[in-house]
Amino acid sequence: MNAFDLSGQCALVTGANTGLGQAIAVALAHAGADIVAVGRSAMDETEANIAPLGRRFHAIKADLSTTEPCARIIEEARDLFGRCDILINNAGIIRRQDALEFSEEDWDAVIDTNLKVPFFLSQAAARVMVQQGRGKIINIASLLSFQGGIRIPSYTASKSGLAGLTRLLACEWASKGINVNAIAPGYFVTNNTEALRADKERNSAILARIPAGHWGEPQEIGGAAVFLSSRASDYVHGVVLPVDGGWLAR
Ligand code: NAP
Repeated sequence: MNAFDLSGQCALVTGANTGLGQAIAVALAHAGADIVAVGRSAMDETEANIAPLGRRFHAIKADLSTTEPCARIIEEARDLFGRCDILINNAGIIRRQDALEFSEEDWDAVIDTNLKVPFFLSQAAARVMVQQGRGKIINIASLLSFQGGIRIPSYTASKSGLAGLTRLLACEWASKGINVNAIAPGYFVTNNTEALRADKERNSAILARIPAGHWGEPQEIGGAAVFLSSRASDYVHGVVLPVDGGWLAR
């Protein structure tokens, strides 16, 4: 028996068209899961990566800046696959500006996408998982769930909030067979970090602090996602697992 095997399970991944979400969807499919990819952009590239693995794949178009599509997403997945085993709350945005200048619009946009929608999508998924008697919810947090950062006040607030929410939901739902955990990625090569990598000074300051000596490649997040989605983590509740090349250990 392979405790990491996800065969026959239905995994929803938000923001699966690119970056960490795409890498997680592909890793879960490698472990056996069927994938429901949720987002506002075309999922063709992700589907092309998953099709050769022989898993089922379905894309749901949804703008995750509001809670409006949350119930529909879970319903559509359940209608199609008959279940909802794994939810990865990955879609997220970042807005950079000095705190003195930061706008209310940039505050609300980030909090809604990174914190409010993950809560209501988790609620909709958990209503199905409770009936199944099991389920796995994984929130994609950040080093800013632990640290302050600079020029990203709503992002830090959202990711610190997401870590707290992970713990609260774990406490409420562990007894119902649902594991709620988070992954805190370090510095990964995706669209999210394009501005940082383009800034020579910030880029080398960041690199100098990463014990592993390199920015994370998206596929380096996959193992943690498979672990937290699988029976191997059935007694793991409410953790925020850093996958950061050692950044926080420094
Ligand atoms: P990314 O390439 O920018 O991916 C973000 C994903 O979220 C994209 O699929 C994006 O879709 C989706 N998204 C954003 N707003 C959306 C909306 N309103 N509706 C639907 N989808 C939406 O960056 P990433 O690094 O892979 O980010 C994935 C997660 O990891 C985020 O939560 C991010 O905060 C977190 N994270 C990343 C790092 C890192 O170093 N890269 C570090 C810590 C945490 P579109 O492509 O359509 O915009």
